[in-house]
Amino acid sequence: MPVLLRKIAVPRSLLANPDRFGGCADGDLQRGDLLILGDQVIGLTRSPPSDARVVNGAGRILLPPLVEPHLHLDKAFTRPRLPDVGGDLMAAIHAQQADKANWSDGDLRARANTALAELVAAGVSHARSHVDWGHESDPAATPRAWHVLAEVAQDWADRITLDLSCLPDIDTFADPASAARIAGQVARDGGVLGAWILHHSEREKGLAQIFQQAEARGLRLDFHVDEGQDPDLDGLELIAATALQTRFQGPVLCGHAISLMNRTGTGLDRLLDDLTRAGIGLCALPTTNLYLQSRGAGTPDRRGITRLAEAAAAGITTCLGTDNVQDAFYPLGRHDPLLTLATAVPALHLDPPFGAHLPLVTTRAARALGVTEGFVDRQPAARLFLAEATSLAALVGQQSLRTPLSRVLLSNA
Ligand SMILES: [Zn+2]
Repeated sequence: MPVLLRKIAVPRSLLANPDRFGGCADGDLQRGDLLILGDQVIGLTRSPPSDARVVNGAGRILLPPLVEPHLHLDKAFTRPRLPDVGGDLMAAIHAQQADKANWSDGDLRARANTALAELVAAGVSHARSHVDWGHESDPAATPRAWHVLAEVAQDWADRITLDLSCLPDIDTFADPASAARIAGQVARDGGVLGAWILHHSEREKGLAQIFQQAEARGLRLDFHVDEGQDPDLDGLELIAATALQTRFQGPVLCGHAISLMNRTGTGLDRLLDDLTRAGIGLCALPTTNLYLQSRGAGTPDRRGITRLAEAAAAGITTCLGTDNVQDAFYPLGRHDPLLTLATAVPALHLDPPFGAHLPLVTTRAARALGVTEGFVDRQPAARLFLAEATSLAALVGQQSLRTPLSRVLLSNA
C-alpha cells in the first residue's frame, strides 16, 4: 500500500535532483508530503493516490545515512583508566601506548561494540576506523586489535559497514618485505592500506612502496599526514607527487594535513592543484586538532586545522571525521558525525545555511571513502531515517534523536 508521510522536510543538498523531487523550497530545505511506494521514495507530491496510508511527519527532517570517514575504535573509551592526559600529540601517543597492555580481546570488543552502537543510533551506515599497527619488536606485526575489530565488523555487518585501515608509520613500509606483509594481511581482510607520516626519515621510500602495494592489490589508501604545525612538514606534497607519478587511480584520503595551514599564495595553489589532479580527498578532524595542536604554556593561538574551504574551492573532495573519542587524544566526544559537524562550525567557520555543509558527513564523505554517494532520492526507504528537528540549524546544533524511517512508518501503522 502507498504511504504518505505528511509535512516532512528534506535538505536540498542531500537530493541528487532537488528540483525534480517536488514540494516547496524553504531555504535549504524542501518541504511537502512524501510518497513512498514499497521500498521506493517517490518524491514530495500534491496528488497522492487515494488509497495511501497517511503518517504524520511534522517536526522531522528526512536524511540519508551518515558517513563517518575517520575513527580509532581500538582507542575509544580508554580515557577513564588513563592518567589525566593533557598535552600534545606525542604526549597522547605515549599515554595511549602504555594503555595497550589492557587491550585484551574482551576489552577491545566491548569498547568497539559501544562505539558501533553509538554510530548506528546516530544514523551512520558506513564508518572507517584506523588501527594502530605493530609493536617495538616487530613494527610490521599484525596487531590483536586488527583481528578483533575485523570480527566485530562482521557482527555488525547487517547494520553498518566498517572499514578497517592499518596505521603503521610510513618508515615500516620502506622495507619491501614489511610492506608486502602488511598489504597482504589488509588485502585478505578487505581493509584499507594506511600509514602515518610526520618527520619519518624514510617517508619517500615508504610512500613508493605503499602505492606500489596498493596498485598491485587494488587497495584503497588512507593517510594520517602532517599532524603538526612545523613549517617543514612535506608529507602531503610527497603523497600528491607519488600519486601523480604512479597515476594511482585511488581512492586516496588524507587526514589532518595541517601543513596546508602553512601554505599561502602560489605555493598553496600549486599543492591544491596537485591534490585535485591526483584525485586525493581531504578529511579535517576538528576535535583532536583543536585539542592537541598549538600546545604551549598558555591559551592556543593557532587552530591547527587544515584548509578545508580552500581545498573544496579547488575541487578536492572534502569531509569531516570524528577521530578520537574519550581516549588519550581527546577526552570527550561521542561517535556522531552531526556532533563533529557542530564542532566544525566555529572551528572552520562553517556559516549558515547549514545545508551546504551536510555533504561533509554524508555524500561527500562517501565519495572520499570511494563508496556510492547516498542521496535521499537514490536510496531505498529502508536506508533513510528521520531526525526530530524543524530546521538544519537545530539538526546540527542539537544532534537530535534519529529514528529509521521504516520504524516511524511501522509505529504509525
Ligand atoms: Zn586519526
